[in-house]
Amino acid sequence: MDKITSFTVNHLTLLPGVHISRIDTQNGFTFTTYDLRVTRPNFEPVMNTTEMHSIEHLGATYFRNTLPETMYFGPMGCRTGFYLIVAGEPNKADIIQRMADCCRFIMTFEGKIPGQSAEECGNYTDLNLEMAKKRAELYLQILENLP
Ligand SMILES: [Zn+2]
Repeated sequence: MDKITSFTVNHLTLLPGVHISRIDTQNGFTFTTYDLRVTRPNFEPVMNTTEMHSIEHLGATYFRNTLPETMYFGPMGCRTGFYLIVAGEPNKADIIQRMADCCRFIMTFEGKIPGQSAEECGNYTDLNLEMAKKRAELYLQILENLP
């Protein structure tokens, strides 16, 4: 089997921020996969599963409600970031802005995390809003200071 695109990226030089991971065309439709990198791979500690899970619930809620082209928002298995798949051509500047707004949405969110019940989630006790807020604040600082 061929090596997939994400394994051809040199993770030793990959910095936190927003990157275009890949652009796929299927049946005439284009899909852009964004690499929302939160921590520096192999240099910084990875995120813990609770903060990632909480950001997954809140981030998926945010993107699906504000960007109809959203196909997927979810965690990277290495726990250093998230993937966002959007229908259409790449527009990195727009996604940086939307991700910053998503961080602000998480930082100001109050109440029960969307999907925080046994009926709605496969591991609903592994959710913590305060941890998600702290991580969103850290990622927002990165997004606001991109070169
Ligand atoms: Zn869940």
